[in-house]
Amino acid sequence: MHGVQQLTDSFRAHGRKVTAQRQSIFRALEGDVTHPSAESVFEVARREISTISLKTVYQTLHELVDLGEIAALDVGTGSVRFDPNVDGAHHHLVCRVCGKVRDHHVRVGELGTAPGDCQGYEIDQVEVVFRGLCPDCRVAGRTPGARTTAGAVTIESEMEKGTTCPT
Ligand SMILES: [Zn+2]
Ligand SMILES: [Zn+2]
Repeated sequence: MHGVQQLTDSFRAHGRKVTAQRQSIFRALEGDVTHPSAESVFEVARREISTISLKTVYQTLHELVDLGEIAALDVGTGSVRFDPNVDGAHHHLVCRVCGKVRDHHVRVGELGTAPGDCQGYEIDQVEVVFRGLCPDCRVAGRTPGARTTAGAVTIESEMEKGTTCPT
């Protein structure tokens, strides 16, 4: 995670203007482990600068993605999520009910891919999504309704309901 100062420097280094509005977006992202949607970032930034627009938030987030300062993520929750953690490869825990997303550090190894199975693709990235119920939803007794599934590379967690994460 890059702090407000780093994001400011990075923006300036690429000849982009750093406004007070943009800095409020940087602050909203700092230390956020929830993988917020643009709307969530907007809600936080708006507390600081009430006149900020969702459009400005969208544009700034996408500029940060272009600069490699944050990552845009689609984990099947219905909206693009933004991940300030771009320093280390990691996977994600996704709650089926509330869509909460958290980092998950796990070595996924070879995934049992047989030689030749990659059909000529040169793989440079593997993303694994672990789906289940978050602690809040478990405590509240919420159950998954319509299950969401992400796109291509989704490996469903084999953990049964009620068991806890071994790590
Ligand atoms: Zn949840
Ligand atoms: Zn993440």
